[in-house]
Amino acid sequence: MNYQNHKLIKTAFLAFTILVVTGCNFSNSNSSSSGTSGSPTIVGDSVTLPKTDPMDPSRLHNWVKELTNFQPRWAGYPEELKATKWLAQRLSNAGLKTKIEPYKFRQWDLSSWEVNLIDSGQSEPIKSFPIWSSRGGAGSAELVDVGFGTELELLTKNISGKAVVVSGRALLNVFATYPETYHRAAELGAVAMFVTSDAPDNLIRPTSSGQNLLDDNPIPAFQLGAQDLAKLRESSRRGGTVSWKLDAKHIDGTTHDVVAHLPGSGQLKGTILICAHYDAWFSGALDNATGVSGLIGLAEYFAQLPLEKRPRDMIFLGVTGHDAGYPHGGVNNWVTKNKESIGDIELFMNLDHLAAHGTEHVTGTGIIDMLGIVLERPLDEERALFTTKHPALIRTFMPFVLKYTPLTLPLPTVPEITANGDLEGIMGKLGVPSVNLTMATPHYHTEEDTADRIPAKQLSRSVMAHRDFLNKILFMSREQIRSPI
Ligand SMILES: [Zn+2]
Repeated sequence: MNYQNHKLIKTAFLAFTILVVTGCNFSNSNSSSSGTSGSPTIVGDSVTLPKTDPMDPSRLHNWVKELTNFQPRWAGYPEELKATKWLAQRLSNAGLKTKIEPYKFRQWDLSSWEVNLIDSGQSEPIKSFPIWSSRGGAGSAELVDVGFGTELELLTKNISGKAVVVSGRALLNVFATYPETYHRAAELGAVAMFVTSDAPDNLIRPTSSGQNLLDDNPIPAFQLGAQDLAKLRESSRRGGTVSWKLDAKHIDGTTHDVVAHLPGSGQLKGTILICAHYDAWFSGALDNATGVSGLIGLAEYFAQLPLEKRPRDMIFLGVTGHDAGYPHGGVNNWVTKNKESIGDIELFMNLDHLAAHGTEHVTGTGIIDMLGIVLERPLDEERALFTTKHPALIRTFMPFVLKYTPLTLPLPTVPEITANGDLEGIMGKLGVPSVNLTMATPHYHTEEDTADRIPAKQLSRSVMAHRDFLNKILFMSREQIRSPI
């Protein structure tokens, strides 16, 4: 989400496009599942739950549908709290000892906002979404187009007292091209920023910046759809102005980790930590109801296994504040509270963005034409397997990745390059072997990241790849997992 090394990601992108796939196996057979168990507990407005096989596609998809009913899942907000209780109940129903752990954090309390373009004496309301945690306030200013918002572009224009317009892109739909622009533009005197993030159909894609200074963020800033941003750029050439009102402030808030323990037989030391963030910008189906669905499916599966097949302890962890709150949420709280246990973790698995139809957003020349053409491709969306530099992780995961989710490129880059500095990024820095098999579609982070875009069978295949990998890792020694060769 925030991100520095564009060159490496461009390389990764090229590698995606030339990836040759052979021997695809789209079997949905459940090679090592333990099958069915007792009847499910039906909670809330669930009507009928599909089969009790934890890997059943419709059962997994049902978790996505249920979680996406709570929206927006912003850290500290009411719908997020409903999601907390919902997730805790699911993990508890699976037979895990589950706790909801509240903690205080600096919450951004967003009340209302509006943006108007004023051109040739006319005022036109523009749909927008504030950049999370940016400074509240109202004002109006002349528009200045600063292209991609690079240092050179900011320096060549007089932006003091002006509202800057930034044509952002999102490499692989994730990595924003403007990580420094907000603070730098403010330093150079800009009074507001308007930016787009490459989503199709004039959709707004909120993103987070790694440099979120919370109360000290300097100016109001807004995300716009690509076509609306183009209007602002055009207007800037005619001396157009923009007005804004952002009623928002930071307050002391409370959010929650959901922590579920599944003790193993004790035959092997150490713990496997499996995590999914359950907050979201809007309905958040791909991001990250699919990961949460995987968390529940895996918890159900491993809880049903006989103890001798679980030689070590497992923890299933749900966290918030990854999207709305980056980089202060994610596993930050859990890591702070469990410092003494970090050395016991044998593997950190982040479940994030597990399944989506393959789609391509065609944006033409790279200039901001943003035609909004989204083509659906056969097969899966491409995935990347991010890991720490522990060769055994890729070696052990890849056979299952190729079996279940073949369009995947391995990237042993954590923590240097990861979209999730507050998840596997932190764990990687702490020396914990970490994996994240992930993807992002053109609708990622937008209001159209909805449950109907998630293919149930593909979701099931993705969860099975994680399950089979975990079944291997559970029996590997610390030395085998961390072996340099
Ligand atoms: Zn995510």
